[in-house]
Amino acid sequence: MRLRNIPGSREAIADNCWCIQETQKTKGTWNIIFGNTNPVHIEIGMGKGKFIMELARQNPQINYVGIEKYSSVLLRGLQKMEEEPLENIRFIRMDAENICDMFDKNEVDKIYLNFSDPWPKDRHAKRRLTSRQFFDRYHQILKQDGVVEFKTDNTDLFDFSLNEVSEAGWHLDQFTRDLHQDKQMNQGNVMTEYEERFSSIGNPIYKLIASR
Ligand code: SAM
Repeated sequence: MRLRNIPGSREAIADNCWCIQETQKTKGTWNIIFGNTNPVHIEIGMGKGKFIMELARQNPQINYVGIEKYSSVLLRGLQKMEEEPLENIRFIRMDAENICDMFDKNEVDKIYLNFSDPWPKDRHAKRRLTSRQFFDRYHQILKQDGVVEFKTDNTDLFDFSLNEVSEAGWHLDQFTRDLHQDKQMNQGNVMTEYEERFSSIGNPIYKLIASR
């Protein structure tokens, strides 16, 4: 998701009380930031944040951190927060490549990846958020029983991701190639913006859950 650059979006994010700056020392301090010891779930590539904000609304006992690379996209999410402030959510504008600078070992309970950019060229494979390089980063911040949940409608990216789960030495807990028809895996499913868009044109949604 790459919205037109919105002039002033970087400055607006820098001033926003729900936004953590990439330069801020957050590693090991998320319980202080949220003021409690509740579990921390993060979404990488949250786009405009519909999914993570809905989860935060439904689960006040869980802390959520939304991560998004582009200020112009993140700004849309922050505008929604002005309308309905939520205590249990924060945002970071950053490239997830540097995620280990922001979270300590065992600090994260769950990572959501939704409709991640496919990076179709082979030479860009390590930029995919489900590459083995990213699984290594997730390994460094997730609790031992933590999980990664990934949804997409992209067949090539999903097949690649299934392979990377095993190449990274992770365990594939569950997967489906038609989430919305899978009664068990679809239970409580919160749709993302892309999921609504692609399922409305008939694309099946793939989902996997991986752990170590
Ligand atoms: N998750 C949302 C959804 O399902 O509606 C948005 C999906 S959109 C295709 C992918 C989003 O991930 C974009 O907003 C993009 O800027 C963000 N993104 C891609 N690579 C990223 C990275 N390395 N770090 C942080 N965000 C990233």
